[in-house]
Amino acid sequence: MPALQRTEAILRASLLDVRSYTIDLDVTRGPDVFGSTTVIRFGCAEPGSDSFVDLEPVELRRAVLNGRPLDPADLDGNRLALPGLAAENELLVEADMRYSRTAEGLHRYTDPADGEVYLYASCAPDLAPKVFACFDQPDLKAPIRLGVTLPQGWKAFANGAPAGPGEEGRREFAETKPISTYLFTVVAGPLHSVAGEHDGIPLGLHARRSLAAELEREADELFEVTRASFDRLHELFEERYPFGEYHQAFMPEFNWGAMENPGCVVFRDEMLFRSTPTDADRESRAMVICHEMAHMWFGDLVTMKWWDDLWLNESFAEMLGYRVAAESTRFTLAWVGFAARRKAWGYDADQRGSTHPVAGNGTRSVAEAVVNFDGISYAKGASVLRQLVAWLGDEAFFAGINAYFARHRYGNAELADFLAALGEASGKDVHGWAEQWLRTSGVDTLRVEVERDGAKVRSVAVVNEGSRPHLVGVGGYAMVEPYLRAWPGAPAVEVPAGGRVLVPALVEDQPELVVPNHGDLTWAKIRLDEASWQVVTESLAQVEDGLTRALLWDHARDLVRDGELAPAEYLRLVERHLGGETVVSTVEAVLAFAVNDVAGRYLAPERRAAGLAVVAGAARSLLFGADVTPNLRQAALRGALESSVGEAELAELQAWLAGDGLPGGVSLSPELRWVALARLAARGRAGEPEFGAELARDPGTEAEVGAARARAARPEPDAKARAWQAMFTDGELSNHLIRATAEGFWRSGAEEQQQEYVRRYFAELLGAARRGDAVVRMLGHFLFPRGYATAETVRLAEECLRADGLTPALRRVIGDELDDLRRAQRVREA
Ligand SMILES: [Zn+2]
Repeated sequence: MPALQRTEAILRASLLDVRSYTIDLDVTRGPDVFGSTTVIRFGCAEPGSDSFVDLEPVELRRAVLNGRPLDPADLDGNRLALPGLAAENELLVEADMRYSRTAEGLHRYTDPADGEVYLYASCAPDLAPKVFACFDQPDLKAPIRLGVTLPQGWKAFANGAPAGPGEEGRREFAETKPISTYLFTVVAGPLHSVAGEHDGIPLGLHARRSLAAELEREADELFEVTRASFDRLHELFEERYPFGEYHQAFMPEFNWGAMENPGCVVFRDEMLFRSTPTDADRESRAMVICHEMAHMWFGDLVTMKWWDDLWLNESFAEMLGYRVAAESTRFTLAWVGFAARRKAWGYDADQRGSTHPVAGNGTRSVAEAVVNFDGISYAKGASVLRQLVAWLGDEAFFAGINAYFARHRYGNAELADFLAALGEASGKDVHGWAEQWLRTSGVDTLRVEVERDGAKVRSVAVVNEGSRPHLVGVGGYAMVEPYLRAWPGAPAVEVPAGGRVLVPALVEDQPELVVPNHGDLTWAKIRLDEASWQVVTESLAQVEDGLTRALLWDHARDLVRDGELAPAEYLRLVERHLGGETVVSTVEAVLAFAVNDVAGRYLAPERRAAGLAVVAGAARSLLFGADVTPNLRQAALRGALESSVGEAELAELQAWLAGDGLPGGVSLSPELRWVALARLAARGRAGEPEFGAELARDPGTEAEVGAARARAARPEPDAKARAWQAMFTDGELSNHLIRATAEGFWRSGAEEQQQEYVRRYFAELLGAARRGDAVVRMLGHFLFPRGYATAETVRLAEECLRADGLTPALRRVIGDELDDLRRAQRVREA
């Protein structure tokens, strides 16, 4: 049965009005299945008509509609027909459901550290029917009442507050406010918990027992960010937090960063940092906490009517996540992280063939929805909203937002509703703005033209080569040793679509460097005048403002991708200027691009080792430099590990693993030890004895992930064969182990043998698609042979895309990788 189509959803929503769900789950029936009993009460606008309910059971035991038994054999795929509905209906469904190993439905995880079992439900976008029978579409909201039968000693948390103290082996939850089915969750197991409270809201933090120490260590910061974010959101929004208690559960093997289930957000438990985090990791986590909290309003209180308006959830949560983190927590540089790390995700997506408008992404079925959780819906949408706020001003923007909440609370909305509220509040032509910014795709370019007479600046202009108006700052910089410093109050200019605007204020200042999009208020590629670029190549690290440095590093990245700057020139920038960079997220972004993209695919294979040596050198200068903060050293350490290929460097890695040679303040924490081991394994310098010792030293899920990557990185034919077999065998590996194995796989191996795997990859990928979207994303992205940017790989990928029966998820991931492969070819040819 295909995924729900938009046309079907519209019809069903016009017919049904769901009054309530009463769900009973029994998770005491062993490792494979759980019991799921659901009573749905719902009205039908046209009595006598038919509809259907969604469920994906192992076995449908019983279904009773208005006292009339339905034949379980009538279950057709994931749908059960509901014939002859009354004005008011009651449907009872009793079923056995299967636990998930891929975090799609009710995920069951056994902790290798202590054998304890944990569960959590992950229902977005259309996985709720794997947990309970429901009308699974965002605009059929209803209150949910949940009860769970549990093994002895377990705790459980869910969307509703615990109802009463509960008894051993059983937990009831209070009825929720009306919520969409994709937002349902329950989290259960012998959890370790930390309780708190803020402003009348009960708070809870939860994790598996083997992470109790990490949870206790992190609890202060997690609560601090949560409290600050609640306070800020309560200042911005007139509606108070609407869902009672606020639990944050850190769970293993999660597919996303976090999920905004009302009352009970699930995070991937890597965010509890078993290994030493940098401040950029902490900043990202703070942003995610704020992002999920913003979702309580954008997404949960008011929900998009259909998946084509995903941006109404994600773009807003993303923009507010960064804004609230920057304004109200200690992570005041959050917007620098956005510029340095997050925007590239969106810029890349916006320049691929699969790009789409921010609003109205064209989603016809839920199967297509999942592919739009992408850089457009998140990074571009957030950036575009920043531009909107710059244009409207805070006051009108939030007045519009508050009117939108008041009108649609506990309901659903679409683009037109949002624009109506904003138009009324601002009196501006928001519809016209939306046509240009939200209904079109692609990225504009803003070019600076500077006329000089010798050293004297005669005129400065910004040329908008795109199709949208931009309100941007233009920064003028001059050297005030040791800094390239901007004059305060960089002028803001409105540059119409296709227009050219002079900036006379900058002529007075006689700048050496002119930077468009100063302050990063818009979504655009930039191009500097030649003299300014010269200043960047000589003095990038001396630019005083961290946000501008992030923009300029990103600009250099863009030039490489467009074939306008040789990859080797980018590495020269890294060599010269990375040592002077003080913002951790920028250092991490530059090192990752230099290793994975510049050396990993833009340089020809025979030049990769030399390219990596440059990165390794730059990372080591930062790692061992004087006056470098522990945070920067920690970021440099990862870069140094990832770029080590030379004999001397590998010997150094072995010394670091043995506890020798690292500067004070940094350490090879468990995750980085496995990064080092994977690099050594790829060069035949580490194998089972080393892996075994490391697994014994620090057992657990993280070690198993690290070992999977390191084993797949070994060059021997039997290591490759085992890794391949495990990745392509159904149910053998969890998603995280598939990803780790994929990450290791292409790091070594005889050329002919690996070429054969490139061919097998495209031949076997189609068959793997039946294992679900999560597996497709892991294999399609992480195992894609991106280092092989050859005509043959392009041909094989094209052929794969022409095959019959591709799922939307597979088509998207292979299409995007093929786009990137062609880009890599163009860069090499340039
Ligand atoms: Zn989100």
